Amino acid sequence: MSDLVIAIDGPAGSGKSTVARAVAALLGWSFLDTGAMYRAVTCEALFRGVDIDNDDAVAALADTVTLTTLPRVTVNGRDVEDEIRSDEVNVAVSVVAANPSVRASMVARQRELAAAQPLGTVVEGRDITTVVFPLASVKIFLTASLEERARRRGDEGEDSVARRDEADSTRVASPLRQADDALMLDTTGRDVDDVAQEIVQWLKRNLRN
Ligand code: C5P
Repeated sequence: MSDLVIAIDGPAGSGKSTVARAVAALLGWSFLDTGAMYRAVTCEALFRGVDIDNDDAVAALADTVTLTTLPRVTVNGRDVEDEIRSDEVNVAVSVVAANPSVRASMVARQRELAAAQPLGTVVEGRDITTVVFPLASVKIFLTASLEERARRRGDEGEDSVARRDEADSTRVASPLRQADDALMLDTTGRDVDDVAQEIVQWLKRNLRN
């Protein structure tokens, strides 16, 4: 089992998932999309008619759901791979993710999942470098222009992306911010493989030191 982690944070559409997948493929490591976990809990709350503003009810749900992110995103055995990207979930997920008890439950699961991997894990989200794995081997903060980020998010649109970033950066519980020791990479106009290679080189340098 391994405690090797590459932690990647950044706003919506900064390229986190695509870059994290590419880095994981280059290293033969596993990959964890933590946004999919918050989205899956949100799907289940909406599916069961739980009021997402009722913090206790949503926290109880988050504690008890069965979640997978690979090979497909499922919650309590239901495949929600497509549903997690719906407009309804885009709107509700920032509310669910601002709930401190939901975060505690997801963070514990994320640490367990990474610890169970034989090699290492590339983990991406909003609080991975600051809260979940503050001692990760490599810490990256990805950004890109709002225009490019909204283009990458396709149907979601610039307004929704900007609203989610504002909510994620200003919430009290684990807001999105660049960790002091995280390497900032702007992916605007950059090739995924090029960014992934840069991160792998960074890992090699850090592991040697
Ligand atoms: O990464 P993605 O855009 O799928 O994340 C969806 C939402 O989940 C974010 O807007 C944020 O509210 C929440 N999130 C979070 N912490 C993480 C990952 C995602 O709060 N580590």
